[in-house]
Amino acid sequence: MADIIDILPDHVANQIAAGEVIQRPASIVKELLENAVDAGASQIHLQIKDAGRTLVQVTDNGCGMSLSDSRRCFERHATSKIKAANDIFSIRTKGFRGEALASIAAVAQVDMITKRPDDEIGSHVVIEGSDPVNHEPTGCQDGTRIQVKNLFYNIPARRNFLKSNPVETRHIMDEFHRVAIAHPGISFGFHHNENEVYQLPAGPLRQRLVGLFGKNFNQRLVPLEETTDLATITGFIGKPEFARKTRGEQFFFVNNRFIKSSYLHHAVQSAYTDLIQRDAHPSYFIFLEVDPNTIDINIHPTKTEIKFEDEKALYAILQSTVKRSLGQYNISPALDFEQESAFSHLPPPTPGQKVSAPEVKVDKDYNPFRAKTEKHGPSVEDAMRFTQAMFREDAGEAEEAQEEQHIISPEWNNTQDSSSTKVRAQLHNTFILTQVKSGVMIIDQQLAHERILFERFLDQLELHQGQSQQLLFPENVELSREDYDILMEIEDDVKALGFDLAHFGKHSVVVHGMPADLGPGEPKEQIESLVEQYKNNRSRFSLPKRENLARSLARNASVKAGKALGSEEMDNLIDGLFACRQPYVSPDGRPTVTTLTLDSIRQIFKSR
Ligand code: ADP
Ligand code: MG
Repeated sequence: MADIIDILPDHVANQIAAGEVIQRPASIVKELLENAVDAGASQIHLQIKDAGRTLVQVTDNGCGMSLSDSRRCFERHATSKIKAANDIFSIRTKGFRGEALASIAAVAQVDMITKRPDDEIGSHVVIEGSDPVNHEPTGCQDGTRIQVKNLFYNIPARRNFLKSNPVETRHIMDEFHRVAIAHPGISFGFHHNENEVYQLPAGPLRQRLVGLFGKNFNQRLVPLEETTDLATITGFIGKPEFARKTRGEQFFFVNNRFIKSSYLHHAVQSAYTDLIQRDAHPSYFIFLEVDPNTIDINIHPTKTEIKFEDEKALYAILQSTVKRSLGQYNISPALDFEQESAFSHLPPPTPGQKVSAPEVKVDKDYNPFRAKTEKHGPSVEDAMRFTQAMFREDAGEAEEAQEEQHIISPEWNNTQDSSSTKVRAQLHNTFILTQVKSGVMIIDQQLAHERILFERFLDQLELHQGQSQQLLFPENVELSREDYDILMEIEDDVKALGFDLAHFGKHSVVVHGMPADLGPGEPKEQIESLVEQYKNNRSRFSLPKRENLARSLARNASVKAGKALGSEEMDNLIDGLFACRQPYVSPDGRPTVTTLTLDSIRQIFKSR
């Protein structure tokens, strides 16, 4: 019999790889801007047409490329940034995979001119769908100008998947903001359809933020500054009174690389508890400098997710730093929000009336941990304890709780040997109550289970170890065109989770097996709701693929509020939760657990 395995031709492999890296015009903007930064440019100009559909052009005055490099850079795994596998642990540049230009060239028409400052003459390269059309020496300025035209001209399905111009432009703005904020020392310009969007001179970070978000921003910023062994934290946070209902500007940079972290976000948001309304969002622009050896940035091709070696300590440090900065600027926790709107009804000042500027009182010595610690800020233990306390429903207890000697999870493990008998109950088929030393712990059963499953699915995705439960009768599932396309996009990961699928005709798959953790349920429903969740998460949070998938599946498979649980199920849930890496938050950042302390219960009755 003849051999049947072929190696994919390069342009096919490139197109497949491009699916991961290039999702929309904004992906191109990100990659090109980052390359310009990596090239050491001091001036970078972005120009787009039609929300980037017909043109994304980036011009820089960086190091440029030689004639042969100007062709080689479009090959896969072509990078000047790492030479050996080990280098990726000490990465300082933005890119390093050598995937971006190859991917872009596979799905668009690319025209590039580039010249190194020391060369007499530059190079001109034209590539369409990975095929070189032109490559010749040319006279040009130092640096690189790269044009990416007609994205997905050769893949109509993906072109049709793009959203409206305003949505695509919004994504491009986001990417531009991220790079421009991370590099205030570089001057940036941005034109859309010949209109100037930004012209940002090089300068300090504060000036850059004002340039991007408007003059009013200046008075809203509180500086952050903290140095610990684990991390150096700098940047700005927004004053609580400017927090808004719509999600404001929220940025984390780790070693100058923009990242998303719902966990660190939670640390910041919780530092604002009591200062802003529950549904309000503070702005922040936070830079973390950490030892590159303590992070793993290689878990996702678009690299907005990072793993930290010591995430919990970082959480605690970040939260305390934000809290201290807010405290130093003496932002009163007694802000009366209901009053806030009343201000807008104040009569305008009459002509000649003197209006005094509002003062900001600065208490440089303010330290939320003063009760426990000396000069150098909180110990990690204190900070962690504080963190736990902040998750409580009644966060007003947080300061008091610092004085307590308990941390929730060890306490749970202690219940067995405490003299009291084990008390455990389900409340309204929704919450689990359990007695702990300091009082009573309340667990949200659905959120807790989502957390447990989320971590399990993430691990399975990473390790490709999803257990599959074979179906007695394979089932044919027909999907809508759109759902089918999405399923195909995430097929590998879906399989890693334990779905055993095979293609079957147009828009259909045959399901032979399902993840064992999913429990009973019709394959069709399970797959449809998985895809549905995945779509929702993608449009609402633009999560990385795997996190999105793990979250979607966890949401689907979790026990829901309203489900009666037996005592063994409750025990398993509690044990499972505290075996998690991040037991206290649900995958979407809500608290899973709260504790009512005995003291606070006593207080309720005393106050009568
Ligand atoms: P990566 O950035 O991961 O190395 P890319 O595909 O983005 O991969 O780029 C490939 C290589 O092309 C880079 O390593 C760099 O050597 C070169 N390059 C890309 N853009 C520029 C630029 N604007 N100026 C100079 N060199 C560039
Ligand atoms: Mg790159």
